[in-house]
Amino acid sequence: MSSDNMQAATSNAAIATMTIAGREVPAAATFRVVNPATEEVLGWAPDATRDDLDAAVAAARAAFPAWRDTPVDERRRLVRAVGAVLRDNAAELARLLTCEQGKPLEAARGEIEGAAYWCDGICEIELPVTVHEDTAERRSTTRHVPLGVVGAIAPWNFPIILAIWKLAPALVTGNTIVLKPSPFTPLTTLRLGELLRGVLPPGVVNVISGGEQLGPWMTSHPGFDKISFTGSSQTGAKVMASAAATLKRVTLELGGNDAAIVLPDANVEEIVEPLFWSAFQNSGQICVASKRIYIHDALYDRLAEALSEYARGVKVGDGLEQGTQVGPVNNHQQFARVSEMIEDAKAKGLRFIVGGEVPEGPGYFIPLSLIDNPPEDARIVAEEQFGPVVPLMRFTDVEDVIRRANDTPYGLAGSIWTGDPEAAEQLAQRIDTGTVWINEAHYSSPFIPFGGHKASGVGVESGIEGLLEYTNAQTVVVRKSQP
Ligand code: NAD
Repeated sequence: MSSDNMQAATSNAAIATMTIAGREVPAAATFRVVNPATEEVLGWAPDATRDDLDAAVAAARAAFPAWRDTPVDERRRLVRAVGAVLRDNAAELARLLTCEQGKPLEAARGEIEGAAYWCDGICEIELPVTVHEDTAERRSTTRHVPLGVVGAIAPWNFPIILAIWKLAPALVTGNTIVLKPSPFTPLTTLRLGELLRGVLPPGVVNVISGGEQLGPWMTSHPGFDKISFTGSSQTGAKVMASAAATLKRVTLELGGNDAAIVLPDANVEEIVEPLFWSAFQNSGQICVASKRIYIHDALYDRLAEALSEYARGVKVGDGLEQGTQVGPVNNHQQFARVSEMIEDAKAKGLRFIVGGEVPEGPGYFIPLSLIDNPPEDARIVAEEQFGPVVPLMRFTDVEDVIRRANDTPYGLAGSIWTGDPEAAEQLAQRIDTGTVWINEAHYSSPFIPFGGHKASGVGVESGIEGLLEYTNAQTVVVRKSQP
């Protein structure tokens, strides 16, 4: 046992438990979870062993036949019951989420309620049964059958809603699941697992947590039929390579470097607020945050000033404090990475219109920062920053800005801000991303497929297309009469 783990036995901080086969599983070892606003130990999470993983997979495998054969309406009733558990415990879960993730309490509550809404919405989607031919001679029909056991791996920026994006469609389509949260934010997901004991048949949902080794153990484990992964593109490539050895299906929701393009006919006063939050909500830690803002030369100075003014009025602080609008970044690695990008920008002589001075701790607080017109090869433009530091770039020519927006390995999403949304729809078709928003950002729904192009992902989540990714097509051909 490490000294950290010995400390667990004496600490007053909560020790969360794993859920396997509907029961609590005692942890042989634990790891610490830190509150990013204070850097204090918030709690302890089980560090799953290979045996724990084997037990979770075995439980999911044992639960699969009965769950697959459960009528879909009953499966839907139980997925809605997961939503009800989220709603009924929203206050407790939101507080825990704020303490481990950093986001303001109201946003944490929004995430929990959004996840509950997803449980309901996914249950509304009907999968197609296609009759290809039905003649005197033959009938052929294709329907969609579950895959088996799904391994779900979630990141730390939206631990609960991104877990539910996997759990709800997997269960509705008849699969069972083993869910692994990020080691930076395991506690709320483990707590949800505890709350779901007795709500679902044992083994249908299993929740395990662990350190760096647990993800690779899952992707290489022969007991999974599919891995549904949300995280960075670098890790996504490893997941795909590892899953290939046993020909698992994969859905990969990966990183992005979204461009927001502000055309010269945009109304500066109207767009300041939504454009600001498209970049800074969740401290910029959103896969689809506006990470590069291109502003037409005609508006640049006015909009840059308005965004900076808005930023100065936003309260950054501990998410539990009344009035906090932006919390810290989630973890020390991310804090170090974003701080490094700020230093790099300064070393290159780039000008901060606002922000740029990282305060002394405690807490992983990065000031809301805007950088004035950096070159395309600056790190802050070329890389996914995943933090509250955003470059503003001038453009004069629409062709040029589309080329710059597309000149990235990523292809997750983007937005266009304009007084002529119809014309912008034509432009949107030339942006190589899975989603393009016009005059807003981040809108998503259980009924709309969401996914990345290029290095931003493989496959989609939500919508009929998202549900189909948890199924195999099965065709039955009936010869009715011999010729
Ligand atoms: P990450 O890739 O470091 O980790 C994601 C998850 O994968 C964690 O649970 C981690 O423990 C696990 N993991 C790490 N190494 C693994 C491996 N080799 N095999 C299997 N699993 C492994 O990502 P993160 O830092 O937690 O999240 C931030 C990234 O996620 C950003 O790039 C962001 O854009 C992306 N993201 C994408 C979406 C989307 O829907 N496209 C949504 C949210 C976040």
